[in-house]
Amino acid sequence: MIWSLPAYEIARLIKSKELSPKEVISAFFERFQSLEPKLRAFITPTFERALKEAESLKPSSEMLLAGVPIALKDNINQKGVETTCGSQLLKGSVALFDATVVSRLRAEGAVFVGKTNMDEFAMGSSTEYSAFFKTHNPWDLERVPGGSSGGSAVSVAARLSPLALGSDTGGSVRQPASFCGVIGLKPTYGRVSRYGLVAFASSLDQIGPFAFNCKDLALITKVIAGFDKSDSTSSKVAVEDYLESVQRAEVRGLRVAVPKFEGVESAVEGCFDRFLRSLEEHGAYIQEVSLKYIHLAINAYYVIAPSEASSNLARFDGVRYGNTVYGRDLDETYKKTRSAGFGKEVKRRILMGTFALSSGYYDAYYLKAMKVRTLIANELKSILRDFDIIVMPTTPTRAFKFGEKMSDPVSMYLSDIFTVSVNLAGLPAISLPLCVYENLPC
Ligand code: GLN
Repeated sequence: MIWSLPAYEIARLIKSKELSPKEVISAFFERFQSLEPKLRAFITPTFERALKEAESLKPSSEMLLAGVPIALKDNINQKGVETTCGSQLLKGSVALFDATVVSRLRAEGAVFVGKTNMDEFAMGSSTEYSAFFKTHNPWDLERVPGGSSGGSAVSVAARLSPLALGSDTGGSVRQPASFCGVIGLKPTYGRVSRYGLVAFASSLDQIGPFAFNCKDLALITKVIAGFDKSDSTSSKVAVEDYLESVQRAEVRGLRVAVPKFEGVESAVEGCFDRFLRSLEEHGAYIQEVSLKYIHLAINAYYVIAPSEASSNLARFDGVRYGNTVYGRDLDETYKKTRSAGFGKEVKRRILMGTFALSSGYYDAYYLKAMKVRTLIANELKSILRDFDIIVMPTTPTRAFKFGEKMSDPVSMYLSDIFTVSVNLAGLPAISLPLCVYENLPC
């Protein structure tokens, strides 16, 4: 089956002319047509456009992703295709330029098959906050795929594409990867250009890939990583050959720190313990560590991220960006546009952020949260002086049911308890599927 092949194998078969790019896209298109009505992973599928691109693709022997289908979260701009960010406010906005990740992938022969569903403006942990429809978890259609990059996670989990991109501000690649049983990477801050990614919280946002095997993940990361003069926060550090590192990776001698944690469902805990034992059997050195500040990560994140969002989203006013709803004067136009265009969660975040930044509250909330951020970053970095990695479960539970957390925003926020600290610290993190329990991945 073509759709079950890893990306590196697809690229190889295309370069050796055993498969044509068109055959590959057609195979994925067919799979999409049969599964998408149940899953609803895509806001704007572009398989037809991809077929045309595939016909004119001239694969060269150097192309790392020749003819490989890739799905993009709908907050990453692809020229000529709508970028909605899962919001009514941007419905119909066609991107005028390619994000840097998109042009880099295209230069390596990748073909884009569509824009995937997401929580509106990447705010959420279940994709239920999309203004358009819910995306279903392929393991159990009654459950959420996680979020906010739920559509991209589902695309890879159901093999509608072997690879996809999401964005991770506080866990939005890793948490849906975990809920859908695929691999999700949040690269180091600055490693991947954010140019062309619609900003949520600029000091935390990072584009990250989904894959179903480590080699594919290394391949796509190698393509998207690296300095970009269009993103002032992008790093000039040379890009490693991740493909080579994956192949020579060794568990023997690995120094693994395991922070104490609680409040995790027993299926996740059991699976995590088995993973630790297996690391140990393969020669890793495991030690429990205590972290003093990490329990404050959620609190700090939910002050900093909404603060940055309240400023970033100010441009969606119906004049500069967004579908305008006209009022009697400019002020009323702003109000009507935002009131009609933004969903409940986005409004909640803007309110929280505006409040935390307002004079009189700035010191008590935003500044305090920034101090906590520094403490957390220093703490994690000091652990990494003595250890190679820190391991934790990605999420406290497996995929939950639709509606379970919609009436209680705080319980939704707590799904990010293990993921947000690395964004605050700018560190890289990966979520790996470890096992399947009662037909749900953890
Ligand atoms: N779930 C988190 C939030 O709602 C993370 C979002 C993200 O990483 N984009 O803010």
